[in-house]
Parts: sequence; structure tokens; C-alpha cells
Amino acid sequence: MTSPEDDAGIGETVSRSYLLSGENVADMYDFVVVGVGPPGARFARRAAEDGYDVLALEKGSIGEPLACSGHVSTDVWTFTGEGAREELFQNEIYGARFHVGGPHSDAYPFYKRDVASNVVDRVGLDRHLADLAREAGADVREGHTVTAVTEHRDRVAVVANGPDGTVEFEAKMLAGCDGPRSRVRDELGLPQPEELLHGVLAFSEEEDHQDFVDVHLTPPTFFAWRIPRGEAGVEYGLAAPPGVQVTKHFEELIDGYEIDVSHRCSGAIPIGPPDRVTTRRAFLVGDAAAQTKPFTGGGILYSMTSADHAAREIDPDRPTTLAAYERAWRDDLEREQTLGRWIRRAYSLPEPVQRLGLGALSGEIGVHMDRPTSLASPSHLRALLSRFRR
Ligand SMILES: Cc1cc2nc3c(=O)[nH]c(=O)nc-3n(C[C@H](O)[C@H](O)[C@H](O)COP(=O)(O)OP(=O)(O)OC[C@H]3O[C@@H](n4cnc5c(N)ncnc54)[C@H](O)[C@@H]3O)c2cc1C
Repeated sequence: MTSPEDDAGIGETVSRSYLLSGENVADMYDFVVVGVGPPGARFARRAAEDGYDVLALEKGSIGEPLACSGHVSTDVWTFTGEGAREELFQNEIYGARFHVGGPHSDAYPFYKRDVASNVVDRVGLDRHLADLAREAGADVREGHTVTAVTEHRDRVAVVANGPDGTVEFEAKMLAGCDGPRSRVRDELGLPQPEELLHGVLAFSEEEDHQDFVDVHLTPPTFFAWRIPRGEAGVEYGLAAPPGVQVTKHFEELIDGYEIDVSHRCSGAIPIGPPDRVTTRRAFLVGDAAAQTKPFTGGGILYSMTSADHAAREIDPDRPTTLAAYERAWRDDLEREQTLGRWIRRAYSLPEPVQRLGLGALSGEIGVHMDRPTSLASPSHLRALLSRFRR
């Protein structure tokens, strides 16, 4: 909700933690962050480290409910603190076996000589990142669901339902890090991502330390997967656009693997950022801004990278700096997302063409999993040439 006048006019039952007068700037936060997933925690930490007064509101318990595979490039450890790898690491992955059909169909392996990615405890990762934000001085509060946002000329008012009832906060700037179905985005009238895929996950208890994930191009326009998580078992998952019978495809996957699964969960995956993710005093980061990889749906690294751009560019006293954030994250990720979209188109090619392409391209690669533009990198070229030397 945006409002030109200075008085928010929000219901009288609201207990006001901070006065509504724009003159009372001493009582105002520099930033209120809504949602404490990876980008919310990362932005809160970086802004607090820069000396800003930061309040971060999370509707539930941090990291819960789980709706993510936690399969990330090893770059994730550049965003974490001491002891994180020992605590959160589950398995290391060198490559992916692509299948045009189910578990018993031919496998086309793509792999790196070095570790390509890690599988991590995603709930633990969120808690770790939130702890880092707290240590940096951010006030991180769980159990606070933001229900309304009003943008004024000189501040933003945020209403949240917390353990003690309804509370209102004020900030010079608002960071909407509240995920794919962002309330902040809706309240501010910002455009929606182009697409919201439906993802499902479930786990079996088989211990599996293999260093390959399996990718099945069976559901229309996206894929299903099997991820070995070391002692934490094996994860089976699938994502597809609305209209696809996700449950039916998922049951076929599980039946094909002849395995029992439990702990089913699901979530949305936004693909295709809207044209604008900022207003006069607010900005979106992470899934709220569809800062994801179009060919995998992965968003942990892109969201934290974008949070760093936001922290670097945005000065809460100078709303015009929001334009610099829009430019910075797009300059960094736009080409990757455009190329990622082209890669995703290959998931919809006719099966015989997929087989031909996978057969021709499989083998050692030198591509960074978050950077499709590295298809043109010297390391990928070296990997391709090494195939001929053998
Ligand atoms: C099935 C599935 C598998 C995935 N696997 C991977 C993967 O392997 N690797 C990868 O990189 N990415 C993966 N992703 C994507 C990844 O989960 C997201 O890109 C990432 O979590 C983005 O973080 P976020 O904080 O923007 O969103 P979220 O993780 O959704 O966090 C948003 C936070 O905001 C809180 N919130 C929401 N509304 C409010 C409100 N009104 N008030 C207060 N708080 C609120 C939520 O409780 C939540 O904690 C997967 C996604 C799905 C659905």
C-alpha cells in the first residue's frame, strides 16, 4: 500500500512501537527487513555491519518449513561464518547424470574434475545466517508476520502480527525478502515474476555418499531430481509450471526408484524477474524479486549476491540510491538469467533431439553452476579439449 500523506491511519488497535511522526527520525530504523531467509539474513548482516539500525522480521521460526534442496555451488561458504562447513555440509557433488526418461533410462553424465557443488542442511544454513545477522547487531525477531506496508514520502510503516499482538514499526527503507509469494511486493503494487513453478520434495532414509545427482527431464518444461545427501538420506524432487500434474509425475518418479519416501514438502519457485523491484523507499531481494536461475530454480546464491549489491548501493537517507541497486544486480545477473532461459528451453525439445544433444555434449565440463556464461570460459574450453586428449 502506498500513501502520499504522512499519517498512516492504521487501525487504533495497533500498538505503536515507534511514533508515526516523520520528524521523529531518532525512533526510526534505517532498514526493516521482511523475511529472514538467505537474502534477508545476508542483507540484515551487511547493513548492520555498515552501522545501520536494522530490524528483521520473520513470520515463523527461521529455516522452517523446509522447501528447498540446499544444493549449492561451493561459493556458499564465502557467505558463511566460522565452523559453518563442519556444521552444515552433507555431501559433495562432482556432476549430474541427465536422463530423458525415468530411473532406468540411459544416463548422460556431465561432470567437473573438481567438486562442483555441495549439498547442505538448508534449515541449519538459514539459522546460521540469521545468527551472523544478530552478531552484527541486527534485531532479528521470529514469530512476526508482516501484514501491511504503507510507503510515505519520508518513511515506510510496517504492521506485523507478533506474539504480543499487532505491532507497527517504521523505517527509512524497507527490504522485502519475503519469498516467492511476497506480501511486500503485493502491498507495494510491484509487478509479479513471470512464472511460479510448483516444487515438491521428499526423503528416503538410504545413506548415500555418491557424488552425482540425477536429473530426469520427464515433467513438461522442467525436471525431476535425485540428490544423495550422505548420512542425511536421499532427496527426490520435482518442479513444474502450473497446470502440470506435479503429484502424478512425482509418484511416477518414486515408483520408478522403487523407494519409500517421507517428509513431503513443497514450495514455489519464481522464474523471470519483474521489470522493477524497487519503489521510492522499498526494494525486493531474493525470490520476491525472482533472483533465481531459470534452468534450475536455484536462488540461494543469487539472492545473497543480490543482498550484497543492495547493502553496497543503498543509503537509507538517499532514496535515489535504489536505482543503483536495480542496476547493480541486473548488471551482475541479467546475462546469466538470459542464458539460463535458453538452457531451460532444451528441456522442452523432442526426446530424440534431447538424446542426440545430451549424447554429443556429455562428458567433462568446466562450467560454474551459477554462471552459465562460463560456457565461454577458458576452464570449460580446457575441459572440452581434454576429452580429445584421452
Ligand atoms: C522445491 C524447491 C527446491 C529448491 N532447491 C534449491 C536448491 O537446491 N538450491 C538453491 O539455490 N535454491 C533452491 N531453491 C530455491 C531457494 O529455496 C530460494 O531461491 C531461496 O530460499 C530464496 O530465499 P528467500 O529468502 O528469497 O525466500 P524464502 O527462502 O522463501 O524465505 C522467505 C522468508 O520470508 C518469510 N516470510 C514470508 N512472508 C512473510 C511475512 N509476511 N512476514 C514475515 N516473514 C515472512 C518466510 O517465512 C521465509 O522465512 C528451491 C526451491 C524449492 C521450492
